[in-house]
Amino acid sequence: MERANVIIVGGGVVGCAIAAELAPRLADVFLLEALPRVGMVTSSRNSGVIHSGIYYAPGSLKARCCVDGNRLTYEFCAAHDVPHKRTGKFIVATSAAEEEQLHALVARGRENGVAGLELVTAATLHQHEPHVAGRAALRVPSTGLLVSEDLVKAYAAAARRHGAYLATDARLEHVDPAGDFVRVRAGQAGELEARVLVNAAGLHADEIAALFGFTRYKIHPCRGEYWEVAPAKAHLVNALVYPTPDPTGLSLGVHLTKTLWGTLLLGPNARYVTDKNDYERDLEPRESFCARAHKLLPQLRPEDLRPAFSGLRAKLTPPGKHGPEDFIVTRDPTYPRVIHLIGIDSPGLTSAPTLARHVAKLVLETLV
Ligand SMILES: Cc1cc2nc3c(=O)[nH]c(=O)nc-3n(C[C@H](O)[C@H](O)[C@H](O)COP(=O)(O)OP(=O)(O)OC[C@H]3O[C@@H](n4cnc5c(N)ncnc54)[C@H](O)[C@@H]3O)c2cc1C
Repeated sequence: MERANVIIVGGGVVGCAIAAELAPRLADVFLLEALPRVGMVTSSRNSGVIHSGIYYAPGSLKARCCVDGNRLTYEFCAAHDVPHKRTGKFIVATSAAEEEQLHALVARGRENGVAGLELVTAATLHQHEPHVAGRAALRVPSTGLLVSEDLVKAYAAAARRHGAYLATDARLEHVDPAGDFVRVRAGQAGELEARVLVNAAGLHADEIAALFGFTRYKIHPCRGEYWEVAPAKAHLVNALVYPTPDPTGLSLGVHLTKTLWGTLLLGPNARYVTDKNDYERDLEPRESFCARAHKLLPQLRPEDLRPAFSGLRAKLTPPGKHGPEDFIVTRDPTYPRVIHLIGIDSPGLTSAPTLARHVAKLVLETLV
């Protein structure tokens, strides 16, 4: 049986970033990914936005990881040739009530340590985004875009370069945590044991936790759908344009993204589904999707939209309930050599390098 210092379950952006963080310091780092390649699900089905950290409750793990992760992600992308751009973004108010929301966001962002926030007039907004309607906006200069698939691949490559072993088609099926090692069985990887196990299984992290008897958290998949705007209208937006965030806290709202390859993307909406593999059934109709963005981009018509793709958020809040959610990073209450990451929804892509440092510290503390 293979013996590892640490087994990481899940080869999304978070698992791969953890492997990249641990591999230079630790021998025998194993990552188990259920699918044929790393980063095939949520980590490549998202907006690819390097978030600034303005939205999240001060002091929360999301706020701290996002602000720090913003800086680290730019550094990592530059050092590892991941396509990215510091585009900045505008959050646009279309009513007096939304203008109030912008003031609250600036205050929260400053409290979280986000630099360079600036409330601007409609005239300034229109200099940058002439086709966008709005009465005021918040400019967030530290927001940017990256190619999320390439980010995951780059973390995986960095981990491999330092000797980590990444096994694909290796779905964790069985665990035996009794004793000084956690024994596992995982698809093609067969049987292994490790001194520490990190659960970074994204949408399935609650199920992996349940294998250890830890059932406190349940993940509710919440789909975000995207549509692409016809090429003839892609010029209507120059960078990133967001509405004021959904007051339920469910999502940041359907936004407009000029992608790094020049197309114009619209989305995501937020709709709970019951199946963690349901990316396509019962998509929101084109007309109602278009109506969500029409307020910001009046020239948009339903016939301009074509379905693009969708992703599933790993939400801890059940359907119908509201409220802020934080990332959960915790040792298993019964088996402290097991560390769970649960509810890593947005801004998980941006936060991955900071989550990785945090988890690496916990792993190294366990091994001394
Ligand atoms: C619509 C949408 C838009 C988003 N936009 C942004 C954004 O713009 N910016 C941002 O910062 N964040 C964004 N996010 C959030 C971000 O995409 C996620 O937080 C992040 O990708 C989560 O990464 P992960 O590694 O935790 O999960 P995943 O990418 O889901 O990776 C988990 C991996 O575990 C594997 N796995 C599951 N079960 C097992 C098992 N039993 N054995 C082995 N492997 C297993 C899965 O196959 C998967 O590859 C968005 C999310 C969504 C859904």
